[in-house]
Amino acid sequence: MKIAIDGPAGSGKSTIAKKLASKLNIEYIDTGAMYRALAYYMNQNNLSLEELKINMETLNIEFKEERTFINGKDISDFIRTNEVSSLASKISKDKDIREKLVDLQRKLADKVSCVMEGRDITSVVLKDAEYKFYLDANSKVRAIRRKNDLKGKDKNISLDKLIEEIEERDLRDKTRENSPLKLTEDSIYIDTSYMDVDEVVDKITSYIGD
Ligand code: C5P
Repeated sequence: MKIAIDGPAGSGKSTIAKKLASKLNIEYIDTGAMYRALAYYMNQNNLSLEELKINMETLNIEFKEERTFINGKDISDFIRTNEVSSLASKISKDKDIREKLVDLQRKLADKVSCVMEGRDITSVVLKDAEYKFYLDANSKVRAIRRKNDLKGKDKNISLDKLIEEIEERDLRDKTRENSPLKLTEDSIYIDTSYMDVDEVVDKITSYIGD
């Protein structure tokens, strides 16, 4: 069974997909973490996009127990910063980067039942998934969720700045030429603005059956 979930930042995708996967006892695959991993690596090594693309060929990106590794190093705690979010969204426009990661995502999903979440899962990566959902929420609610997730110095960012950044990132993700975030005709749309995590998981499960 493949369950594909797309939606903008802060729509609750990751939390919900994780909980759903655990409820159904299937794998959870976070594709945003892969774009974030590349952005983090690029930043750490001061690489240009072209240099990243050359290095990418030999980079080993792995996932174990919901942790993200690059060349064996666990980078999970460093990829949720505001800086990495913004750079991940910028590099995700690139066709070569997407090709490489879509390939990796399809390989990961190939032999398992899974919940996979991202921006192009319902439209590109798992086009044939049995179940497809698009999660959304208004930008203020999404910025508040994001603020609660931030750690360290990022915690001081104002809500208005976060709303601005989230809307900027949405615009980039929805208008890019390669695999933009969109609501496909065969996806079920859920507005999570005023729902808690369990309510959304229950709603999704009501379509799937458990
Ligand atoms: O989902 P998350 O916020 O972790 O994703 C970080 C960024 O990676 C997104 O803003 C988006 O630009 C990019 N992304 C993507 N395609 C995916 C998953 C994430 O372009 N399938």
